[in-house]
Amino acid sequence: MSVKIHKLSENLVQKISAGEVIDRPASVVKELVENAIDAQARHVHIEVVAGGRQSITIVDDGVGMSPEDLETCIERHSTSKLSSPSDLFAIATLGFRGEALASIGAISRMTIETRAAEALEGTRLAVEGGIRRDPVSIGRARGTTVSVRNIFFNTPARRKFLRRIETETRHITQAVVRLAVAYPQIGFRLVHEERQILDLSASNGQQGRAEEILGPMTESLLHARGDDDGIGVEAFLSLPTACTGSKAKQFLVVRGRPINSRPLSQAVYRGYGGLLPRDRHPSFVIWIELDPRKIDVNVHPTKREIRFADERRVSKVIEETVRRSLHGPESGFQSYRQHEPEDQPVTIGESPEMGIPPGKENVAHTLEVEFPKESRRHLDRISLSLREPSDFGAEALERASREGESSIDSLKKLESAPALWQLHRKYIFTPIEDGVVIIDQHVAHERIRYEEALQCFAEEGVASQQLLFPLTVNASALEMEVIREARELFERLGFGIREFGPGTVIVDAIPSNLTDWGEGEIFNKIVNELLEEKEERDSLQEAVAASYACHTSIRAGQKLTENEMKNIIRQLLNAREPFVCPHGRPIMLKVPLKRLDRMFGRT
Ligand code: ADP
Ligand code: MG
Repeated sequence: MSVKIHKLSENLVQKISAGEVIDRPASVVKELVENAIDAQARHVHIEVVAGGRQSITIVDDGVGMSPEDLETCIERHSTSKLSSPSDLFAIATLGFRGEALASIGAISRMTIETRAAEALEGTRLAVEGGIRRDPVSIGRARGTTVSVRNIFFNTPARRKFLRRIETETRHITQAVVRLAVAYPQIGFRLVHEERQILDLSASNGQQGRAEEILGPMTESLLHARGDDDGIGVEAFLSLPTACTGSKAKQFLVVRGRPINSRPLSQAVYRGYGGLLPRDRHPSFVIWIELDPRKIDVNVHPTKREIRFADERRVSKVIEETVRRSLHGPESGFQSYRQHEPEDQPVTIGESPEMGIPPGKENVAHTLEVEFPKESRRHLDRISLSLREPSDFGAEALERASREGESSIDSLKKLESAPALWQLHRKYIFTPIEDGVVIIDQHVAHERIRYEEALQCFAEEGVASQQLLFPLTVNASALEMEVIREARELFERLGFGIREFGPGTVIVDAIPSNLTDWGEGEIFNKIVNELLEEKEERDSLQEAVAASYACHTSIRAGQKLTENEMKNIIRQLLNAREPFVCPHGRPIMLKVPLKRLDRMFGRT
């Protein structure tokens, strides 16, 4: 059979290469906002309908285009930003590939209206699915408006990948926020179907923008500045005490480019060193200035990553700047000590047979784990969490599936457990007929809460308590989005939530079984957790339930009375899936007596 090779049509080539740059509405927004910034706009207005699926309109007050430029800009590889090869090594604009407008025009119905400052009239040009219409003269203000309708109308495969409106809107918000962080001198407004999501002022400077993005947290932000080796760093970061469970608000900007960089983010963490509580993440905005010849921005199709000539040196300056600011006189953190080291692990884990070095908390990986048949569909998740530190997992799981049954029985016997001990305020420990069972108090309770939450979603009328002093929650644009998205579910849990102007939410009721509400920080924590959970779970209900469970359950380190322990066990017995927490960690482990005997040489 012979295959005939032929050249692809220009239209098809356009559609294919559009896929590289444009994979969802948020990428259209990103490209168009970048163009507005490159055109020296002072204000950028973004209006979106149906998460960008229906339409995206970007209005700027930048330099605009002449009618001739307007006709060229929609061609592939046409740009005003590069002319000679040497320009490529000192790129000062966000765009330079000249691909975005051509790509967007290929997969949507796009209209551009523009007027250059010196021109008397403006021009409108439309492109539909890569097909250009004739330009017409129009009257309009200086600047450019690009509107993009029916994205992917002619590439149905891609259209299928679009997620829910809320999800797309969240990505759009994130894209605008990233650019807004990079350009504090520009005002940004983002409106979704007449609802204002962002309104960032053009005149508050770097600190103002950092506060707008990281939340109004004057007491919890630290300012840091460093300058070394021709590398300048300007940073706003959270105080160690204000760090959260979420990485959602970490922004790095290099010469006006928002970038992702693991090594540079890690440098920030190293700067915090021991001041960062375990599992906590700082929020930060860090602007980095350096000689443009020391970076290569042309290494990633959507320009999210760049290459540094000397990444180590940049990391070093960041790390030092962060460290100095945290230990500096104004930080008040010289005397801040990390929490006391956690309690030593259960001695069983130190048995030489297991080869677990003392102090390493690997109990979960040193014990035989038995799962009942019903939970075997979770085995993948469990094996993941078991396999990481050792290769114990696969084999143990296989054995577990053979020996299945006995844990359920053990569990039943727990009800009449002769004694319960709390080990190191972390584990519930109880002898059973043929061994001991160890339960992780936090994940056990997390599972209980998680199932409670899912139950609430399925039922009407949950018990809720009114707060005497309603709580005012400040929320960033991203947090607002997620609160809105999950509001109904929050209400089903028993929260009373009212929006109160931009960036503020009033919580006036909470679930009635929440005892430890504190000053209400929990709500912020749940929302932040939800931002992360949503990335990992398709079901919003599960994401809300998991975030809620994570922050409302008994923690490690909390002392429990015997009654409380009994309660946990009783509720666990009624849980649908008592063996794994919502994140896939094991809840309880059994050490069979036989095993203990073996360990002590009693064969
Ligand atoms: P690039 O940004 O890589 O140059 P684009 O396809 O995004 O490629 O844009 C092509 C050209 O169109 C730009 O180089 C610029 O000259 C012009 N252009 C695009 N958007 C605007 C705008 N909002 N205002 C003025 N000129 C614009
Ligand atoms: Mg561009």
